[in-house]
Amino acid sequence: MLSYRHSFHAGNFADVLKHIVLLEMLQHMIKKDKGFSYVDTHSGAGLYHLQSAHADKLQEYRQGVAKLMDLNWPELNLYQQTIAAFNSKSAKLGFYPGSPLIAAQFLRSQDHAWLYELHPEDYKRLVKNTQGYSKFKVFKEDGLSGLLGRLPPPSRRALVLIDPSYEIKSDYDAVFKTVASAYKKFATGSYAIWYPVVERSRIKRMHQQFVKSGIKDIQVFELGLAADAEGQGMTASGMLVINPPWQLMTHMQALLPKLTQALDETGQAFYRCEQLVPQQGIE
Ligand code: SAM
Repeated sequence: MLSYRHSFHAGNFADVLKHIVLLEMLQHMIKKDKGFSYVDTHSGAGLYHLQSAHADKLQEYRQGVAKLMDLNWPELNLYQQTIAAFNSKSAKLGFYPGSPLIAAQFLRSQDHAWLYELHPEDYKRLVKNTQGYSKFKVFKEDGLSGLLGRLPPPSRRALVLIDPSYEIKSDYDAVFKTVASAYKKFATGSYAIWYPVVERSRIKRMHQQFVKSGIKDIQVFELGLAADAEGQGMTASGMLVINPPWQLMTHMQALLPKLTQALDETGQAFYRCEQLVPQQGIE
């Protein structure tokens, strides 16, 4: 039974981090003419109305994207332009694009996208929101098994976003196991895995699993609005990136300290930029 709906959370601080990293990776993929596959294992609805009853209930975007659109930082340009493309100049922040429509801004005629979404309502919305994009295939299937069935992609170039809601505690292990299998089939793919920090011990365990897995070149980026605390819900979130573009770390090192300051409301906000596993791996 799926109860998570991303429409309650679109544009929050976790989306900001996830989509900034995704944008950086998409930009890197299109530097080469050769086509690539974009795989979004947990796609959501694709586009969110920020004045809808869902978004309005928690208004999480006010602690996220809404604080960033007027900042004049070169490092944020791409993110701001991407969000602005879904909004009129007068309404400024009426809509927030999800990962599939963010990717759609970058995909070219030689690229493909495979999108997975299980929630019946969000699946319907995703189909509707991606109707104009002939290179997009949308599946109402489990995204983790879907991913394994697709690898290696015919082009041998792929960007994979894994963004579950972690409603079930076993999701953490399922994500690790899927990525470990995916890497065995296709070690040169770029993988971006989002995670919430709700219980720090779970994240430490997941990081350790990756460190011991033999997977090389892993970076971790986190942004937290409050110090780790169990029982408080999601206080931080992170992106674990395998085979990151070479400029990602430099970009995040420049942006994350400023971003953390801009989003901080409690004096406890923090960030983390770390090479978790070096390029040559840990023996
Ligand atoms: N990636 C989206 C974005 O950045 O805009 C947000 C995705 S949201 C965090 C997670 C989505 O995964 C939800 O819409 C949920 O219905 C869907 N979902 C949950 N379990 C799934 C599964 N096993 N396979 C595919 N989708 C799933």
